[in-house]
Amino acid sequence: MSTALERLETLAERDEVLAPLARLYALALRTLAAPEGQWLATCLATPAERSSATVPFLHEQTIAVDLAALAHLLRAAGEILDRSGLLDGGTLERAVANGRLPVRELVRAGILADPHASARLAGAAGLPERPVTVLGQLLVIPVLAAVSHQADAAFLRGWRAGFCPVCAAWPTLAEFRGLERERWLRCGRCGTGWRYPHQQCPFCENADHRSLRYFAEEGKQDAQRVEICEKCRGYVKTFATLGAWSHGEVLLQDLTTVEFDLAAAERGYRRPEGLGFPLAVAVVARELAA
Ligand SMILES: [Zn+2]
Ligand SMILES: [Zn+2]
Repeated sequence: MSTALERLETLAERDEVLAPLARLYALALRTLAAPEGQWLATCLATPAERSSATVPFLHEQTIAVDLAALAHLLRAAGEILDRSGLLDGGTLERAVANGRLPVRELVRAGILADPHASARLAGAAGLPERPVTVLGQLLVIPVLAAVSHQADAAFLRGWRAGFCPVCAAWPTLAEFRGLERERWLRCGRCGTGWRYPHQQCPFCENADHRSLRYFAEEGKQDAQRVEICEKCRGYVKTFATLGAWSHGEVLLQDLTTVEFDLAAAERGYRRPEGLGFPLAVAVVARELAA
């Protein structure tokens, strides 16, 4: 069985449309897997004990990041977008070098999923908005994955909300895990998984089974389906899994099942924008925080 990273690289060779994202995800996974990946970012202080089951781990935290490593990652990601004709790599390179695109602020905009901040940064750097947003979203994958290890297991077990207990993102997908088909929601940003009740919408907490349904390909509903909520019109792609998927597999599965997203959109369902919780997070350079 090849790894998610290898499958992303194969996908990038075979599918021209998905290639840029597949290459960006592969880049993020390689960064994560490198020995220094786990030191890319750390929360400076262990947070005051989180007794609440609905306030995410990162709220009111200060994250110290390795700015030099992230600038390197950003340039490599920019080259991928440049090769696909989505961004001028030279302009990006200069904007990073002369500080018109501050990496620290791009990371913060990504963590907060703040489209206005991304747009402002893109404008100041003379770059198009969409690819800059994508770059911000990419940078936060290894950053958030690194800090997610600081969240303690008891806190994660006690989590009750539909958004990610670490980074507050809405679930990327859901697993029906193992023979018991336990329902686990998974975050594509930080990789965290958390249990969530069947028959409850993670977005609006609607638990009325009459308005919770799913659609699936004929005969495949046990293996993969799209769960939908009539109340908030949200949807979650859901897959039967043997065990917990790796972070890479979550990203890969999300990418290779875009047809579900299109089918959901055609039916008028959508994933909510932004985060499930108004995070307050500070990002500082580790070089200065040390
Ligand atoms: Zn997360
Ligand atoms: Zn709902």
